[in-house]
Amino acid sequence: MEAEDSRTKISRLEGTSDWASWKFQMQIILEANEYADFLSGEEPKPQRIPRAGETDAETDARFKDELKVFNVNMGVKIASRTFATEGKHPNGMAFELNETQKEFQELARKFAREEIIPVAAEHDRTGKYPWEIIKKAHSLGLMNGHIPQDIGGLGMGVFDGCLVAEELAYGCTGIMTALEASGLGQTPVLIAGNKEQKKKYLGRLVEEPLVAAYCVTEPGAGSDVNGVKTRAEKKGDEYIINGQKMWITNGGVANWYFLLARTNPDPKCPASKAFTGFIVERETPGITPGRKELNMGQRASDTRGITFEDVRVPKENVLLSEGEGFKVAMQTFDKTRPPVAAGAVGLAQRALDEALKYSMERKAFGVPIVHHQAVAFLIAEMAIGVETARLAWQKSAWAVDQGKRNSYEASIAKAYAADVANKCATDAVQVHGGNGFNSEYPVEKLMRDAKIYQIYEGTSQIQRLIISRAILDKAKQGGV
Ligand SMILES: Cc1cc2nc3c(=O)[nH]c(=O)nc-3n(C[C@H](O)[C@H](O)[C@H](O)COP(=O)(O)OP(=O)(O)OC[C@H]3O[C@@H](n4cnc5c(N)ncnc54)[C@H](O)[C@@H]3O)c2cc1C
Repeated sequence: MEAEDSRTKISRLEGTSDWASWKFQMQIILEANEYADFLSGEEPKPQRIPRAGETDAETDARFKDELKVFNVNMGVKIASRTFATEGKHPNGMAFELNETQKEFQELARKFAREEIIPVAAEHDRTGKYPWEIIKKAHSLGLMNGHIPQDIGGLGMGVFDGCLVAEELAYGCTGIMTALEASGLGQTPVLIAGNKEQKKKYLGRLVEEPLVAAYCVTEPGAGSDVNGVKTRAEKKGDEYIINGQKMWITNGGVANWYFLLARTNPDPKCPASKAFTGFIVERETPGITPGRKELNMGQRASDTRGITFEDVRVPKENVLLSEGEGFKVAMQTFDKTRPPVAAGAVGLAQRALDEALKYSMERKAFGVPIVHHQAVAFLIAEMAIGVETARLAWQKSAWAVDQGKRNSYEASIAKAYAADVANKCATDAVQVHGGNGFNSEYPVEKLMRDAKIYQIYEGTSQIQRLIISRAILDKAKQGGV
């Protein structure tokens, strides 16, 4: 596809709903200011230099136009640069984000504060799916960052995706989960899809603000994925799928699903050969999503059971080949648990900020409550959790971006950040006293939202199982 000339793009977008997003992005870039130095030499910033015979108003109009084109170009450049952690440092460790990462983090931070926080309580109350937010996030490049550049995505690594996830989660983890679950659905295609599958299904998500879903859990099988009963039978060039999935995030709104089904009916067949991963178009006849579940928290997100009845899927939609599904479904978590952990850190950071703000304003016994050591120490504990859980997701995301096996680190990050989020949210309610128990303040929502981090994408017990097994394996190989 030929790149669109900036002037054409501006005239196409101006006045449409997408224009607001572009303007928003440009504003961030302008505010960041360092971008001019950062890109100096690449493209000089336009100057207001009058031309002979021009009136002041004409110079102003021309300069404004040139600046607009320049800013849009900068937006495109920044958004399409490949992001990566520095990694190189005299001491072998780098704790600093690079400039591009800082800019992207800032974009997500501003988006969370200006677009998500104002509507979060409303989505929590109504359970309305956040399509408006998704459309804006999509146009700003805050979704699908991981999609490779040759398909039109940003080709971002897991680390950079996590930076965005943490910021969005700060605004509302229900909304962040709606976005993140689409990434979960896409990851099997990213890691195992062939060229055509990637182009067709990931490309579609780049072009339009659509979402995907990951359909593995069933009413009778969650932690024990080997217990999945949904069947896929090969008939000619198609597979016929029958079964029931449960707790599927984006289940009612996704454009397509990653689905895990049993293709080998022999109960003795090992999991590593018994299952196949499919891409399934939502509009295929025989698919019936159930009602939206009324969950404790993260209510903006759409969770449903889905029935598959004689659903015909072409063999072209098999990922890798028959029998490879379990591996694909499990490997997915190495890339998706770090962003879930980052989301939990975003929630924990919000709890800390809300508790700190309140404790500096609320007075008891003549002083702001933060001056009571018991309260100050609760805040300190929150900070300890936030800082260390952040390091945990960072290490696990960095490892997978380096091509290292990171299941152990991803499980540590996910389990630890989930516990930190729950502790921080509970303590933030405590700091708020009676007000914390009421929906006028955001912390009761944080407490309800936090719980799911110990359940989805592998419960905290399953993470500890993975961690302990990895330690034991290492010990057996003489690593201790
Ligand atoms: C809001 C929400 C969104 C979700 N989104 C998705 C989604 O998009 N896609 C998807 O496929 N699934 C999704 N899930 C499902 C989620 O991943 C499962 O609920 C989770 O993996 C646990 O499975 P389960 O509910 O069947 O619990 P079970 O597996 O029945 O576990 C019950 C309890 O037993 C413990 N337990 C089980 N086995 C062991 C063991 N071997 N050792 C120690 N303890 C154990 C568990 O830790 C848990 O405490 C979602 C769930 C929820 C609630």
